[in-house]
Amino acid sequence: MAKIVIALGGNALGNTPYEQLELVRETAKPIVDLIEQGNEVVIAHGNGPQVGMINLGMATAAEAKAIKSDMPFPECGAMSQGYIGYHLQNAIGNELAARKIKKEIATVVTQVLVDENDPAFSHPTKPVGAFYDKETAEKIAKEKGYTMVEDAGRGYRQVVPSPKPIDVIEKGAVEALIKDGYIVVTVGGGGIPVVRKGGILVGTPAVIDKDFASEKLAELIDADLLIILTAVEKVAINYNKPNVMWLSKMSVEEALKYADEGQFAPGSMLPKVQACVQFAKSKPGRKALITSLDKALQAMKGQTGTVVTG
Ligand code: ADP
Ligand code: MG
Repeated sequence: MAKIVIALGGNALGNTPYEQLELVRETAKPIVDLIEQGNEVVIAHGNGPQVGMINLGMATAAEAKAIKSDMPFPECGAMSQGYIGYHLQNAIGNELAARKIKKEIATVVTQVLVDENDPAFSHPTKPVGAFYDKETAEKIAKEKGYTMVEDAGRGYRQVVPSPKPIDVIEKGAVEALIKDGYIVVTVGGGGIPVVRKGGILVGTPAVIDKDFASEKLAELIDADLLIILTAVEKVAINYNKPNVMWLSKMSVEEALKYADEGQFAPGSMLPKVQACVQFAKSKPGRKALITSLDKALQAMKGQTGTVVTG
């Protein structure tokens, strides 16, 4: 039996609420397999398409004066955590009931602390939300202090930074729930980014990478294993090249060497490998695993996936 943090990628959730409701039924199965084997499971997930949809919808409705206010980005993130959490609670709850496993699942709306001096704040990189013409973009930038940039000829958009997670504010609640036997969904979308200002926590428009947030959570709750579930069964070197090589395991040193060589795409595989390295070296005995959702159980048995060990 192990304490496991599972980070779900975009392919576990899909792009629309209807697609998501279908997909989570499948997502629930390998997760419940791990629970059935007696593991303590905590679930984290991405929220790119979901928070994008909420943010864009709210911005569009606000522009059209159909609603009274725009919706700030941290609030959009909180909404996405609730909506995705509901689907996961529903699907995993149903799967547990179908297998007559007497366990309950709860979602914790989660704030994640970031440092306002994180260098990411001076280089916002992630475009979010609606497209505006130049004039409107300048007006919004002035009114709200947003950074607006031209996005590939399609108009102007807000860009937000991607700072590193420092702490999970609700970690105590997560631990208490785990101790009481609950399955917990937390740090959705990497968490709602908050900075500490004069002793209080303030939500800030930013996107924390869900792979890094999951890793931080795994350390904080003293998990044994971090499993990052994504669209590929294994990590490769020479990915997309004729001499591709799929890896079953990497030491921390090997992973760092491959990362230096540029083997992992920034924004997709690189943060996963970096998160695994960080977790594997954080304490003796900890390991991390990257594999696909449908192969999770086999990978747990050591039959597939890429394991990163310290
Ligand atoms: P997620 O939503 O799970 O975070 P991403 O698209 O961000 O998924 O990252 C996973 C993707 O990374 C894979 O589907 C694959 O296309 C890509 N990728 C980039 N480099 C590699 C590599 N070296 N080995 C395997 N996959 C890679
Ligand atoms: Mg990703």
